[in-house]
Amino acid sequence: RACQNGAMSYRVRGHLGGLRPYSPGKPIEELRREKGLDRIVKLASNENPLGGSPMAIEAMKKAAESVHFYPDASAHSLRMALAEHAGCPPECIVMGNGSDELIHLLGLAFLDGPETELVMGSPSFVRYDAAAGLGAAKLTHVPLDADWRHDIDAMAAACSPQTKLVFVANPNNPTGTIISQAEADHLADSIPAGALLVLDEAYAEFAVGSNAADGLGMTRRGAPVAVLRTFSKAFGLAGIRVGWGVFPAEVAQALERVREPFNVNSLAQAAAIAALQDHEFLKESIRVNREGGATIAAHAGSLGLACVEGWANFVCVEVGDGQRVAEALLNEGVIVRSGHVLGMPKHIRVSIGTAEEIEFYCEALGRVMAGVAA
Ligand code: PMP
Repeated sequence: RACQNGAMSYRVRGHLGGLRPYSPGKPIEELRREKGLDRIVKLASNENPLGGSPMAIEAMKKAAESVHFYPDASAHSLRMALAEHAGCPPECIVMGNGSDELIHLLGLAFLDGPETELVMGSPSFVRYDAAAGLGAAKLTHVPLDADWRHDIDAMAAACSPQTKLVFVANPNNPTGTIISQAEADHLADSIPAGALLVLDEAYAEFAVGSNAADGLGMTRRGAPVAVLRTFSKAFGLAGIRVGWGVFPAEVAQALERVREPFNVNSLAQAAAIAALQDHEFLKESIRVNREGGATIAAHAGSLGLACVEGWANFVCVEVGDGQRVAEALLNEGVIVRSGHVLGMPKHIRVSIGTAEEIEFYCEALGRVMAGVAA
């Protein structure tokens, strides 16, 4: 009751009223009970279907013995390992409680009222909108092109002297599409002085072999670019929350002032160091993802449905009415993301699962599409 006193008596920042809290999907157990289903397959959150890196899990068990100590606030060993991995100076690396937190910290560091602007593609990752909202900044959405790719010329043209941050997820979420090196260079060259181009490479490991821009290479050349990476996807550590970014030194220093000192806990630091060594797991994650993506696309093709050509760990299938099909799939025990909440209402976004999960999904989608056509 104390939470529900109708009149607002507290003076929280006025613009917070316009923000919406994150709404997590329906828990699997709740769905199972509601629908009386035996098997539920969740292909909705772009998680790693193989689980976590086994070497990381081992390292966490060991690190659990030392949980009475505070974590290393500078994450020294992890940043050294990442510096080697990325070929960047360790002082340019900032750790986050997931890359979500780095997006948040960038907003805190750069955005402060409507005189400051964030430019992003649309549809793209919703946490960029949230960063702009929290900073009460001007938010400029630049529509993706007809092939669901970032429209780099339009993004460059949309920038103004107020622009502080330009976000490109590469590969993009929810589309999976990529921008090339030439496009990334062009955008980095076109943004106003003092603005930062943020290449969010949460799915970069899956795009090996594509012509996606090499963001880390750009940071090494001193371009006005930051690169965000995460252990949540290809390394299978979404639950433990480790993200990292490579920033121009000055920006890294600013973020270090904003960052909560113990934002990456000791289990997470140990897990991430070990995961970087787990080459077998990474290779297998990428293989399973490639094969699964091809199966989902081929199956969609067999139903006469188009897919967006993507390079992440999900596939966007054009089903006509994304919401209706996502709801019908729920009745079959398959959880996917309806495109209508992601800015692509004709699509569903299907996270790439194991071969067995994909088979279950394909059979369900076949029945659903037959029902929709009937
Ligand atoms: N960026 C993009 C493009 C994403 O899709 C996600 C995960 N949904 C993230 C960042 C955040 O990932 P995490 O916080 O788990 O590192």
